[in-house]
Amino acid sequence: MADIVIIGAGPAGMSAGIYARRAGMSTVIFEGNMYGGQIVNTPEVENYPAIQKISGFDFATNLYNQVTELGAEVRMEPIVSLEGSADTGFTVRSEYSSETAKAVILATGARNRSIGIDGEDRLLGRGVSYCATCDGAFFKGRQVAVFGGGNTAVEDALYLANLASKVYLIHRRNQFRAEAALVEQAKANSNIEIVTPCIVTGLKGEDKLTAIEVTDVADGKMKMIDVDALFIAIGQIPAAAPFANIVELDNGYVVAGEDCKTSAPGIFVAGDGRTKTVRQLTTAASDGAVAAIAACDFIRSRT
Ligand code: NAP
Repeated sequence: MADIVIIGAGPAGMSAGIYARRAGMSTVIFEGNMYGGQIVNTPEVENYPAIQKISGFDFATNLYNQVTELGAEVRMEPIVSLEGSADTGFTVRSEYSSETAKAVILATGARNRSIGIDGEDRLLGRGVSYCATCDGAFFKGRQVAVFGGGNTAVEDALYLANLASKVYLIHRRNQFRAEAALVEQAKANSNIEIVTPCIVTGLKGEDKLTAIEVTDVADGKMKMIDVDALFIAIGQIPAAAPFANIVELDNGYVVAGEDCKTSAPGIFVAGDGRTKTVRQLTTAASDGAVAAIAACDFIRSRT
């Protein structure tokens, strides 16, 4: 039996792993995709204290190296169930193995929201992408579009502006949700054309994307824009549904306050999947520390 099982190897889960290992707890981390979570899709992180600039991928890799060198076991296995209680212990089952634990930290974050229009799935990887850092280089010197108005969308547009011949930044409102400093940079960039208040309503192309249909939400007028790529960055959906049987959810997020304690004793939650207002890298790392310390206290209180 492990002391602590952490589900999710994003910044929250891996920060929790660092604190758990440094407290001497045996720690297993399950991750269904690549380590790092959403931050690996961020070209440049410039708002993490004491690190002026780092790519999201490098940030995630540093965290991974840190937590594994401290002795956490990372299993790249998607979780299928979480059962048990503080009295009996918890059982976490993946597609390939299972592990029992005295305490569990949920750190599954969120997944990309899709637009839900025809062709979005078919053209994925053929011009449609949710990751500018991963796929941007394929479109060097081409016209591309980014859809969204948050930090991810504006950062993506700025990143792509260095590669593409032109970037259309499409957002459904005239006001951006992204930090003002980023929006100012985008507005000042001659390679970025801001298209608001508009939504993407159609995708053109059989084998690959050739154009997008954009609809003005104010007057309903539609226009086609020729692009080779559309980067969709319209937010995330929490990935906590598999835990609905064991902890309280609100709108898909795991209910917990700043102490990271869920409705089930012995189960804690850290990161973007928790009910909270500020979802940032810094707050994910902070949650990881709080949840791990709470899990350690919980285990010690019962032995
Ligand atoms: P977000 O902040 O939730 O923004 C999502 C954007 O997509 C919003 O502008 C929203 O429009 C729009 N949107 C949502 N649903 C839509 C739909 N169905 N159709 C069209 N547009 C839609 O998501 P995010 O930018 O991915 O950021 C997620 C979190 O990570 C945020 O807390 C963000 O600050 C953080 N983040 C931080 C960094 C960093 O610290 N460097 C980098 C990236 C992300 P409305 O504005 O109209 O609602």
